[in-house]
Amino acid sequence: MTEAPLKAAYCVTEPGGGSDVAGVKTVARKEGDRWVVDGQKMWITNGGVANWYFLLARCDEGFVAFVVDADTPGITPGKKEVMLGQRCSDTRGITFEQVAIPEENVIGAVGKGFHVAMQAFDFTRPPVAVGAVGVARRATDEAAAYARERQSMGKRLAEHQAVAFLLADMAAGVEACRLLAYRAAWEIDEGRPNTYYASCAKMQAARHAEFCTTSAIQILGGNGYNVAYPVEKLYRDCKIFSIYEGTTEIQHMVISRFVTGMRC
Ligand SMILES: Cc1cc2nc3c(=O)[nH]c(=O)nc-3n(C[C@H](O)[C@H](O)[C@H](O)COP(=O)(O)OP(=O)(O)OC[C@H]3O[C@@H](n4cnc5c(N)ncnc54)[C@H](O)[C@@H]3O)c2cc1C
Repeated sequence: MTEAPLKAAYCVTEPGGGSDVAGVKTVARKEGDRWVVDGQKMWITNGGVANWYFLLARCDEGFVAFVVDADTPGITPGKKEVMLGQRCSDTRGITFEQVAIPEENVIGAVGKGFHVAMQAFDFTRPPVAVGAVGVARRATDEAAAYARERQSMGKRLAEHQAVAFLLADMAAGVEACRLLAYRAAWEIDEGRPNTYYASCAKMQAARHAEFCTTSAIQILGGNGYNVAYPVEKLYRDCKIFSIYEGTTEIQHMVISRFVTGMRC
């Protein structure tokens, strides 16, 4: 699995909800030396192209996590969703119907699947934050380049303080969010828990990407609203950073639990 160019997908969210992971309804039953899974997942990135799925299901002992071969009978990916942004991403619902999974495909201990699923976010939120920083930076670069050229009232846009200061806020936030994302990743390298930093980085970078992309459109004016310029795409692409890998509200919950010491 580590040598071939394989694609994987993380199947946790269901049609009934994504934030409430403990509310997962997909069911796994033990039958002899295998598990049989029934349920539906929603919004699965790489859903139609993955070779392997990470799958979270409910069982008698609590939750159980599996790695599942995508070719297993009973797995049916739905249609590719048409989305606001990140349209190259193959995102689909997936139905699991009487899917037989060998015992050895259980990840971690039976009953501890919820913990396994949550731990993944410590590793995925830093790179998601970095993605948001990339979008924010591109929006800043596009807006700065435009402001250097475009004239208004006898001056370049960049010479109007309102525009120049907006660009300064965009650039400073990019630097701050980049460092925060690096901090979240560095904690992993140092072998320390990074949950707090991963949520801080993901929340701030998502927020700043939205600020930068809407600001970039503002600086480009009518042209920013035109598909001929790249900033409208950045604006559409950035919204997902405050939704997937835990919404911004979920990041607030995680961070506030650390700040108040009321972690469970
Ligand atoms: C493009 C895309 C790709 C995705 N890829 C994957 C993937 O690969 N694998 C996967 O498993 N999932 C994936 N998701 C799902 C994503 O993780 C969920 O959309 C997200 O967790 C939110 O779940 P939901 O959409 O069901 O919204 P809900 O959970 O219904 O929440 C709706 C709103 O209510 C807020 N809310 C919910 N509960 C609370 C609370 N307790 N306190 C305060 N506010 C709350 C939420 O923050 C949100 O704003 C993807 C989603 C999208 C759109």
